[in-house]
Amino acid sequence: MSSFEFATQAKHTLVFTVIGGSIGGLTSAYWLKRAGHDVIVVEKYSEETLKDHKFSGLRSPPNLSRLLSLLPGMEKVLEDKASLNLGAVFHQADTSEPIGQVIWKEEMVADLGSKYYRIPYSDMWNHLYGLCIRENVRFKFNIEVQNITLSKSRLPTVIAVSGEQISCDIVIGADGHNSVTRNCILADVTGNDQGDEDSDRDTSSESSKFPELSEWSSCRLSIPIREMQKDPDLLPLTQNSLWYLWMGDGIFHTGGREGQDQYAVAVFYPFSNFGKKDGEWTMQETSSMTSGEIRETGCDLKVKKLLELASSCQRTTQTPYRLSQFTDSSNQIILIGDAAHGAVINGPQNT
Ligand SMILES: Cc1cc2nc3c(=O)[nH]c(=O)nc-3n(C[C@H](O)[C@H](O)[C@H](O)COP(=O)(O)OP(=O)(O)OC[C@H]3O[C@@H](n4cnc5c(N)ncnc54)[C@H](O)[C@@H]3O)c2cc1C
Repeated sequence: MSSFEFATQAKHTLVFTVIGGSIGGLTSAYWLKRAGHDVIVVEKYSEETLKDHKFSGLRSPPNLSRLLSLLPGMEKVLEDKASLNLGAVFHQADTSEPIGQVIWKEEMVADLGSKYYRIPYSDMWNHLYGLCIRENVRFKFNIEVQNITLSKSRLPTVIAVSGEQISCDIVIGADGHNSVTRNCILADVTGNDQGDEDSDRDTSSESSKFPELSEWSSCRLSIPIREMQKDPDLLPLTQNSLWYLWMGDGIFHTGGREGQDQYAVAVFYPFSNFGKKDGEWTMQETSSMTSGEIRETGCDLKVKKLLELASSCQRTTQTPYRLSQFTDSSNQIILIGDAAHGAVINGPQNT
């Protein structure tokens, strides 16, 4: 697999600006540079913030792990730093009564061609960043993009909040759920400068017995494994490679080991409760859930204990959207990653 050459050499060198220096942005920047293009990544946070971002993680199911394994050194990073996910165990949220389980057997994992991993965000980011630096990808940190201008006869120009302008041949929008790039594409599609997402909703789908999901909130918590090991109720959760799902009435919790030191828990609500409209990694936030929030989740004592032990909690509320196209009409502005992904981020199906 690792001998596969993902990027073929380009006949013409183009200048790419990648907006967003997270997982999607770094991966595309690396492959574009390897193909012989000139690449600059523009990121609104500082290098240090992303490098040291300890409190988040990434799920990498086999389809993603297979692609990641094409990157030099990535298989070793996954083997050394990630935890394995070997199955999912379902429980009732209010009683912790077991409902069922799905265990991924070796034959199935072999068929899928790679494993299901969970890895701390900074471990993945640092490796991808190192690869980009090695290939001489250029970076501009602390630059927040405000707009992209384009006319069919001219090159795209990326405009920062500071007023700085960067011209290029192609813009890659890897700027996450609240993507500025997506707004530019929607404005191109709809002629609406505000990027009216509602106007691009897919209304053709069959009517469903489930109400349309209009808003989705989640908390992503990190719990130090050493704290869980002190509690006999929680210790068993740390001793296997299973992903736990506690399912409640419209609310559910998931939990699993993520790397060597942390246990990741996510709580999902189908409505806005945390008051945080954001949809991006909230890089610096480390406050834990309030007792009121924990009560609202209606979970049993074991899950409650987990939530109370969390050393950090990232809250986000998002509105789902649907996009019918991932480029502007000139094909010079292209969306990737969460910027192009209609599923709510941090959801269990989005990786
Ligand atoms: C709170 C939270 C918790 C999550 N937890 C998990 C998890 O536990 N497991 C999991 O698998 N996934 C999780 N995710 C999803 C995961 O973050 C993404 O799927 C993954 O990072 C790849 O996304 P991306 O690179 O496309 O976008 P993102 O990671 O969102 O990156 C977008 C980048 O663009 C930058 N950016 C945004 N706007 C601008 C702008 N205007 N100008 C310049 N730069 C900009 C941002 O700073 C960021 O670095 C979580 C997401 C959130 C919001």
